[in-house]
Amino acid sequence: MSTAASATHKIKTLAEINELFEIEYEYVLTKEKYQRPIRSYELINSDAKCQYLKKSKVCGQAHQHGYVVDTSDGKLALIGHCCAFNHLGLDDQQIQNAFRQLTTSERDAIRKSRVQDVFSKKDELVQRVKEILKEAKSLQSEAQSVLSAIPEKIVVALIDRWKRNNLKINWEYLIVKRSKDERGKTITENSWYPHECGTLKGVGVWLEPEKLTFAQQLYSILRKLEHISTNKRLTTNELELAEALINDLPQISLIERSVKDQSRLISTFCQHQNLILIIQLTSNREIRAQAVETVYKLTGEPFDSSASRFVDSIDQSIRDIYKAEGVRIAS
Ligand SMILES: [Zn+2]
Repeated sequence: MSTAASATHKIKTLAEINELFEIEYEYVLTKEKYQRPIRSYELINSDAKCQYLKKSKVCGQAHQHGYVVDTSDGKLALIGHCCAFNHLGLDDQQIQNAFRQLTTSERDAIRKSRVQDVFSKKDELVQRVKEILKEAKSLQSEAQSVLSAIPEKIVVALIDRWKRNNLKINWEYLIVKRSKDERGKTITENSWYPHECGTLKGVGVWLEPEKLTFAQQLYSILRKLEHISTNKRLTTNELELAEALINDLPQISLIERSVKDQSRLISTFCQHQNLILIIQLTSNREIRAQAVETVYKLTGEPFDSSASRFVDSIDQSIRDIYKAEGVRIAS
């Protein structure tokens, strides 16, 4: 039985009965214990054996047409079509009532079969959630370790830029025009022009790892999953819990995708060419020097120069491009 629809189709083999129901084959079905029919079947072969107790002897008749029935002590048993009609003493009205109930039972059977289908691979599902959980935790610690290497003021600037989607980092360079007025006095005119340092890549939710709830969400799914009963005879409560969890399952793929996305963002962010832009997020020379150290620490590239001199050389290179007399961060 691989689909829920299969619960309404005609059962044609004993194997199908066994997949749908946990039949107690040793159970002796009496008139007193009989409760209601659960499912009818018409088998291709006479494979089913009637479990009804007739005159202190189990009927045992091999049959094709019969019913799965529920008993007052919560078992499922098989009864042949003939015994059901002849010995349970059901009149037409009772049969009709019972079959009205069968509709509910059929509905139940569909729900149960769906739950059983989904959770027949429960172990694989648990395994998958555990693997994504591992990735989510490693994302969390990766985010934390990257962030702890970056000066705090720069982390704040990064979060701000990400939230405002303001990812272009601009500086300005100063061109001074000098001329003489009619009296021969030198006039200077200062003009600032924009210089684009680059566009930040790889920023995202990972910048606030305390807000990443992937692991908690997965733990919650995992806990529920581990408590799901794979028993064929689910109680109403178990059935409802299982159905609620089935509704949560698409979340697993969403979380998996988000975790992968954030991991990708971190590695994009940590590429040297991108990372170096963080030095330009502030004008504070000391913090910029710390950012230089961050860049080399995170890329793992050797750095044996002075961080402050590195900062000065960035500024100098901008000056050189434009023959500018000054640089500053764009306001
Ligand atoms: Zn019988």
